[in-house]
Amino acid sequence: MQNTVKVLEQIQRVDLEITSVEEEEKGRFRRIEDANELLIRLEEDKVRLLPDIDALKAQIRDVEAKLAETKERAARNEKRSSEVKNDKEIKALTKETNEARKALKHNEDELGALNARLNAEADKLKAKETEVAGKTAEVEDLKKELLDKKADWDALVIDKKKLRDGLAAAVSPDILKKYETIRAKRGGRAVVPVRKEACQGCFIHIPPQAYIELKKGSAELIMCPHCHRILYVESEAPPETV
Ligand SMILES: [Zn+2]
Repeated sequence: MQNTVKVLEQIQRVDLEITSVEEEEKGRFRRIEDANELLIRLEEDKVRLLPDIDALKAQIRDVEAKLAETKERAARNEKRSSEVKNDKEIKALTKETNEARKALKHNEDELGALNARLNAEADKLKAKETEVAGKTAEVEDLKKELLDKKADWDALVIDKKKLRDGLAAAVSPDILKKYETIRAKRGGRAVVPVRKEACQGCFIHIPPQAYIELKKGSAELIMCPHCHRILYVESEAPPETV
């Protein structure tokens, strides 16, 4: 069984390498998805600003029209000032001139306020557009990076799987299945060394009898009684892990 365990340990090493490549790939996919989601939200924010801007522009056009009318009214009053004949007319014209002046001031103030609001909204839109452009570039970069690496990863995984198949051929299907089951349940690690009589999967001491069996080289696979991983002792005294 010592050889079987050794092969299982090698299979596990290859499996961990394959998993790490797959995780890296998945991680990059997730980053693209996250960036894409953010981009969609930014674009929605941008689109939401547009009706306000359109409404403001329409209001500005109305006030501009009103302002033009008021200016005409003021010009008419100006012209009439040379035509007034008596006090009554002068009084009426003065009143009308004052009213027209007030209306002009009101229109101008209103137009100023609307233009200020339009500028503020336009600034918001511009800022949002800059964000959208930045995020779009980020998504493109991430996609390109992924594409650049994908071929290498795929080739690496194919190589590793071939290597694994070669190793797996030396182990009985039953044991391989057991290995797979433990691996699936135990976070990818089914085979662990014993150091200082402790399982390095769960770090709990194993019974002395099991340790003696392991050292001797048992005919059966020896499992950790606590985490049920397959145990092995390293042939060389391993360096102390900190
Ligand atoms: Zn254990």
